[in-house]
Amino acid sequence: MTPEIIAFDIDGTLTRSKSPIEDNPNVDTDMSDLLNKLLARYKVAIISGASFSQFKNQILTHLTKDADLLKNLYLLPTNGSTLCTYGEEDWQCPPSDQLSEDEKKKIYEAFDKMFAEVGFVIPQHVYGEVIEDRGSQITFSAFGQSAPLEVKEAWDKDHKKREEMITVLAKYLPDFASHIGGATSIDVTRKWIDKAYGLEKLLKYLGTESTHLLFVGDELQPGGNDSPALRVAGKCIAVKNPEETKKIIQGLLV
Ligand SMILES: [Mg+2]
Repeated sequence: MTPEIIAFDIDGTLTRSKSPIEDNPNVDTDMSDLLNKLLARYKVAIISGASFSQFKNQILTHLTKDADLLKNLYLLPTNGSTLCTYGEEDWQCPPSDQLSEDEKKKIYEAFDKMFAEVGFVIPQHVYGEVIEDRGSQITFSAFGQSAPLEVKEAWDKDHKKREEMITVLAKYLPDFASHIGGATSIDVTRKWIDKAYGLEKLLKYLGTESTHLLFVGDELQPGGNDSPALRVAGKCIAVKNPEETKKIIQGLLV
């Protein structure tokens, strides 16, 4: 395969959960430099359940400001319900498939029922919203979006808690898909909005065949929030952490 587009997940792939990408001014092999170099050679896509403002904080503020390079970057926040492209000095994110108020209400109610069923009690001290409305997606984070990494990473290392939650949610939300995301999150979207949907949207926009798309992610196992990419990308590479992703990028730059 000769990849033309390299697509990455964010949390666990380009960065540690909800953290900015590595950006060390003293080395030229950190994640931010590697991505800048990749942009000079390939089209690069970043797809995640995160909102555009998280893309900004975690990735964009640490990347090149060179417009010619940024034109090779495609951002797919909330799993590609929006496709953002760089043009005329700024990012353009045309409005996308928003959930209706009725759909949101249904999802909130399902979370309440699920919490009762699995015995989850919202922690007394949370860091930001536990259930966040991202327009086209509702995201649950056990301790809130901005909880410190050490709090998050200890909570559900083996994914068992969230797998149980997702099984219960599926019962109440047959028309929606729930996926494990980040360290403590579950993303709920309309059934067809997942990484496969976003990557298909990107291929259509670029007029490129899926055989030229390489996807890199840390949750490609069955039920993982990257697994839908297996249906679309010509090739998928599973990584365990950003360090492994860096090695893959270095391999592409040889
Ligand atoms: Mg991930």
